[in-house]
Amino acid sequence: MARAPGAAYRGRFAPSPTGPLHAGSLVAALASWLDARAHGGRWLVRIEDVDTPRCLPGAAGTILGQLAACGLRPDEPPWYQSERGAAYADALQRLRDAGLAYDCGCTRRDIELHWLARGQPHTADAERVYPGTCRPGAGGAGLQGRPARAQRFIGEGVVHWQDRRLGAQQQDVAVAVGDFVLHRADGLWAYQLAVVVDDAAQGITDVVRGEDLADNTARQILLQRALGLPTPRYLHTPLVLAADGRKLSKQNGAVPPDLSRPAAAQHALQAAGAVLGLPPLPAAGVAEWLAQAVRAWAGIIAAFPTFSDPP
Ligand code: GLU
Repeated sequence: MARAPGAAYRGRFAPSPTGPLHAGSLVAALASWLDARAHGGRWLVRIEDVDTPRCLPGAAGTILGQLAACGLRPDEPPWYQSERGAAYADALQRLRDAGLAYDCGCTRRDIELHWLARGQPHTADAERVYPGTCRPGAGGAGLQGRPARAQRFIGEGVVHWQDRRLGAQQQDVAVAVGDFVLHRADGLWAYQLAVVVDDAAQGITDVVRGEDLADNTARQILLQRALGLPTPRYLHTPLVLAADGRKLSKQNGAVPPDLSRPAAAQHALQAAGAVLGLPPLPAAGVAEWLAQAVRAWAGIIAAFPTFSDPP
């Protein structure tokens, strides 16, 4: 379902509270805020704290404080995914009722052995495609007496979508990832399900986030279609790269920007803005910098590829 043209813009920044914001996540925060303001829309913050073992106590508060220091204040109270389990369970049940989700008894090792037996050793960073072992009916063998561990979605279909910055995109989900996890073996909700349920529940019209998440979009569109939910527009922003050429992350040394004084916050915003293509803005203070940045961003997005909404 495409969203009705002209639906009032609602954007969001959806950090996982695994630590404070760093230069890379500040780019995604700033881009989503600028895009909402440039469209006269609303900007929300959603704390994606579903992966509890990876969450750091206090990090959500730290992130909200860092955003406030940069003048980025959500228009509505933040949502916390840890409080949304009932909505995810309801969506999963609907997918199961529709025959689109099933119990999986495979361990990571089972999946690995499947591919090794077919002469396909693991390559670093590549996500293993689920071979469909437990898929019920034709194509799979079901649980075969093993206990259910995770629940998976039947990931089939070539998905085409338009990214506002990257242009036309497509992914064959069966080839890229196969049937993907909705509810994990450790009892936690998977990002793909939580993000789709919450983007719809919050009426998000525009997802603006880092390019490292672009290849999740096809899975999310499949889930939206299966649940009868609208598909937002997507814009994936450039990434900040670490010295090793990889995406900047806490794992390769990202440190939180200095936001201790307004001048430092403005400096951090300027650095994040440069990644987005903003010119240096000679503003006297954070509020003025943000106002100038909204105008500059409006010029940048006007030059993005144009497209019509998919049917
Ligand atoms: N929580 C995800 C992350 O921090 C972002 C999810 C999204 O923007 O869709 O990587």
